[in-house]
Amino acid sequence: MSLSAFLRSRYGRGFASRAEIEAHHDAAFRRFRAKVMPRSPFYRDMTGLPLAQLPRMNKARLMEEFSAINTCGIDRDQAIQIALSAETSRDFSPLIGDISVGLSTGTSGQRGLFLATSGERRLWAAIMLGRYWPQLWRRQRVAFFMRADNALYRSMSNLLVRFEFFDLLAPFDEHLPRLAALDPTVLVAPAQVLAVLAREHIAGRIALSPRRIISVAETLSPDDAALIRHAFGIGADQVYQATEGVLAMTCSRGQLHLNERWLRIDRDVIDPATGAFCPIIHDFTRKSLPILNYRLDDVLIPDPTPCACGCASQHIARIEGREDDILWWESAQGPRLITSEAIRTTIACLPQKLRDYGIVQRGKALHIWLDGAETGAENALREQLLNLGSRLKCRPPEFVFHTGSPPEIGAKRRRIRVEKGPHIDEFRA
Ligand SMILES: [Zn+2]
Repeated sequence: MSLSAFLRSRYGRGFASRAEIEAHHDAAFRRFRAKVMPRSPFYRDMTGLPLAQLPRMNKARLMEEFSAINTCGIDRDQAIQIALSAETSRDFSPLIGDISVGLSTGTSGQRGLFLATSGERRLWAAIMLGRYWPQLWRRQRVAFFMRADNALYRSMSNLLVRFEFFDLLAPFDEHLPRLAALDPTVLVAPAQVLAVLAREHIAGRIALSPRRIISVAETLSPDDAALIRHAFGIGADQVYQATEGVLAMTCSRGQLHLNERWLRIDRDVIDPATGAFCPIIHDFTRKSLPILNYRLDDVLIPDPTPCACGCASQHIARIEGREDDILWWESAQGPRLITSEAIRTTIACLPQKLRDYGIVQRGKALHIWLDGAETGAENALREQLLNLGSRLKCRPPEFVFHTGSPPEIGAKRRRIRVEKGPHIDEFRA
C-alpha cells in the first residue's frame, strides 16, 4: 500500500485555501504532462495545451479512443473480451500483465471500460483505508457489496484486513448467512443495499454491528441515511465513486468534499439558480488510462458555506443523481431544475401515511404512484406540489395519479426519476 497516501488521507490536514488547491493542481498537471501524456499516443502531441483545451471527453468518446489513450498499449477489443468473460464466469482474476480490466454500465446502458495498474489499486486502497479505517490496531473484516468484483478491490486483503466480496447479481438471500458469519466491522455497499440490510437487521433476520458503514456507487437519500442510522446506531459515510475515480468523500463532520487532493474538478453549471453542475474531471492519479477534461453526467449541488472541518476543498450538499434523473418544470425563464430532494421533502411532509411512492416525469406529465396511502393523500400532494411550484416560480407538469406499487427500473430502484426519451430533450431545448 502507498504509505504516504495512507498517512496523508488519515492524518493530513485539508487544504487551507483555494490558492493552495490551485497550486497543488498546477504542480500535479506539470508532472502529468511530463511523465504520463507522452506515453499516450492520443495525448502525445498535446502536452503543450492547457487543460481546458484538451479534447472534451465522456464515456462514449473514451471508449472510441481507448486503444490510443491508454499508456499500456492495450487494445480495446482485447480488453473488452477479457472483461466480458470475467463478467460471465464471475471469475474476476484475469489481468493483462499487472493491469486489471473492468467494465461499467451506466444507466444509459453505455458500456465503459477501465484499467487499473497494481500501483493505482494500492493508491486507491491507501486513500480509502486511511480515511475510513476504524481502529488501526485491530484486524478489520470488510464486506463489500458490488456489481462486479475486480482486482482493484481485492488488493486490500492482507494481514490487517479480511475482505469479502458479495456479488450484487447473486440472489440476495444467499449472502445473509455468509455475511452473518463474517460479522463485518466495515460494511461497504450501494445505498439501496445498505437500506435493505438495515431493514433485515431491524426485522431480526440478521444481526450486524459494523463500526463503519460506507455508502458507495449511488446517492444516499436522506430517508435511507436515517434508516441506516436507526438500524446500526451510526451514520453512513459516503464515497462518491465512479469508474472514473473516487470523486468525493465525507469528512470528519460528515460533509461531502470533492477529492481535490487527487483530482481537479471543474464545473459545468446546468442550473444557475441552484448552482447545480456536472463535474468535469482531470485525474492526476490515473496513469494507465488518463482521464482528462472528462465530463460526467452526474449532477452535484454545491454547498457554498465553508465546512466546519476547515478543509477548503469544494463542499457539496449532495449528489442529485444522473443528469437524466432531474425533473425540469416550466418557468418564465425557461425550464427549471427541480431537485428530487424538494420532492422527497414534499412527500415526507404529507399529513397522511403511505407505504411507498414513485414519481416519474414523462415529457410534460408527472406520473405519481402512491402505494398504500391514507385517504386524502392524493389531494394533499397535488396541493403541495402546486405550492412547491409557486414557491420556485415555475409550473408543475400535469399530474397523473396511479394506484398500486410504483414501477421499478432494473436493480436500482429510484423513487424519483425522469424517463428518458426525446420528449425530455424537446422540453429542455
Ligand atoms: Zn468538511
